[in-house]
Amino acid sequence: MKKILVIEDEELVRNNILEILDTVDFRVIGACNGGMGVQLAEEHLPDLILCDVMMPELDGYGVLAALRNNPVTATIPFIFLTAKGDKTDIRQGMNLGADDYLTKPFRRKELLGAIEARLIKHDTLYQGYTREPSRAVAPVRDLRPERPDSLYYDQLTNLPNQLLVREQFDPLRDRTSQEGGWIAILCIGLDRFKRINQTLGHEFGDRLLMEVAQRLSQGVRRGDILARLHTDQFAIVLAWGSDKGDRRSVSALQDYSSRSTAKPLPEAIAQPILDRLTQPFCLENREIFITASIGISIYPQDGEDVDQLMKNAGVAMSYAKQLGGNQYQSYTPTLHSESLDDLTLETSLRYAVERQELQLYYQPIVGLEEGNIVGAEALVRWHHPQQGMIPPVKFIPLAEQTGLISAIGEWVLQTACNQTKSWQAEGLPPVRVAVNLSFRQFNQVDLSERLVRILDNSGLDPRYLELELTESILVQNVELTICKLKELKSMGVKISLDDFGTGYSSLSYLQQFPFDLLKIDRCFVQDINTNATNAALTHAIIQMAHSLNLKVIAEGVETSEELAVLYENKCDNIQGYLFSRPVKAEEFKQMLQEGKRLDFQPERVRHLTE
Ligand code: C2E
Ligand code: MG
Ligand code: MG
Repeated sequence: MKKILVIEDEELVRNNILEILDTVDFRVIGACNGGMGVQLAEEHLPDLILCDVMMPELDGYGVLAALRNNPVTATIPFIFLTAKGDKTDIRQGMNLGADDYLTKPFRRKELLGAIEARLIKHDTLYQGYTREPSRAVAPVRDLRPERPDSLYYDQLTNLPNQLLVREQFDPLRDRTSQEGGWIAILCIGLDRFKRINQTLGHEFGDRLLMEVAQRLSQGVRRGDILARLHTDQFAIVLAWGSDKGDRRSVSALQDYSSRSTAKPLPEAIAQPILDRLTQPFCLENREIFITASIGISIYPQDGEDVDQLMKNAGVAMSYAKQLGGNQYQSYTPTLHSESLDDLTLETSLRYAVERQELQLYYQPIVGLEEGNIVGAEALVRWHHPQQGMIPPVKFIPLAEQTGLISAIGEWVLQTACNQTKSWQAEGLPPVRVAVNLSFRQFNQVDLSERLVRILDNSGLDPRYLELELTESILVQNVELTICKLKELKSMGVKISLDDFGTGYSSLSYLQQFPFDLLKIDRCFVQDINTNATNAALTHAIIQMAHSLNLKVIAEGVETSEELAVLYENKCDNIQGYLFSRPVKAEEFKQMLQEGKRLDFQPERVRHLTE
């Protein structure tokens, strides 16, 4: 029976995986942190390890590095579990030698499929090998001649893989340092390769990768290493020493060979490779054009060991991709801190709720008929201990990607409901509170149950709660969405469509969905008094919304001129800096106590719009 070790700090996730694996006759071992994971791996020598990337103290990268550095555990198949669809995360794991990754949440089928594939591959590679620790990593040269498909070679292109790069790097470095030379690692990623796979099929994609490998190898001379790291990523390791030493060069480096120990110029290394790849490929009577992004790290300035250098070249490559691709980028430490930022931010976001770093601000919503406050939109703020205030546009998408939105969204809902109920209990005029629900929150299977529990806990009458959804939810399965919306409405809460006009939907499409309110996005409201297109659009939106029995809220109203046009167009409610910015709970309470009203006179307004 195969033994699987699951290293995952989140208990729920860990137990879930262990349960699934239990049902398929695996022997399972669970570890709740990285340190324990490494220890259990050494004790039990499992057949495969599943390991979370983000863990406090020793994270997944640390675990992998520790295991790969120990001959006893070095070849145990290792699958990363990442909550983040982020390529940097995945790349970092693969660069370190992970065999595969799974993005959480994954389905049972995906989990079992990934495990099975790895176990089969590993067994094939090690046929005939006993599980003795000393054999765990066989010397490269022993394997090479008779096992072209060995652990050290990529099966598709027959190029070395990153394990071989790792094996061969140290001797190369030692030689080069003695000679006072340089080593450059180029990480080459094909731009938008996924699209080729998707549109022309994987077989075509594979053939193209073989051609790319072939073309790259034409430029590489003996002694340099060309490797395929994974799917659409290759690496070239170039070294050159002093004139007296073992000078190596690639044709890309012709200029260089004469400069011997001078620091390599990125353009001399990378540009010829980019040029070579932009020449069309002819495959199956088709001309295919591709481009690549190249990241360069240099030994010794960008790192002492191969892991560091590969990682840094990878960081530089992603940066080149971000800039649009078809270019090269040398590694600099600032690039690193930028990409680390996201990771650090994610880690601290995990603790933001429990450390009480989140705070809700309330932005008043005003009725145009009476000019009084009819509600407030709850807007979350994050007071980061080091970085100060982080706006929601920066961390909500990250929370969505990582799944942290569930905990944050739940906190926002509970806090907004409790707060609104407590204002009512203090005898203030009852107002409704609007809470933003993200796409992922809306799709939680137990959203209704969560809401019922939150409303129960707070004692707030559901008619005072409004849920703001964006058009993104409308592009999914229409019947299912309508069903979910009806279920929410049956609880008595109101539903509004937020940021209307920024998505894809037309008003007639909206007719099918049971919304109560429609919030016109700020981009339509802006300069509505001078911008004729915006004015016409807003007029049409309000008219149609009313004919569908929807109330209309105009967002981002900043001037009394904009207000005047909205009033004329019979907009129901407004929200914006003109009346108030989002404010802390105490300040909003004071507005309610004082009965703050919109300072406008319809007569004057009429005059303004004439
Ligand atoms: P939104 O739901 O459209 O919220 C309105 C945004 O417009 C708020 O930005 C608000 O401060 C801003 N705003 C309001 N009046 C004016 C104005 O007159 N002029 C200008 N220039 N801006 C105005 P904020 O607070 O930065 O929130 C941005 C977005 O973040 C929100 O857009 C919403 O999509 C999201 N968000 C905020 N809180 C939450 C939350 O608790 N959960 C979720 N899922 N998303 C949230
Ligand atoms: Mg909103
Ligand atoms: Mg909005």
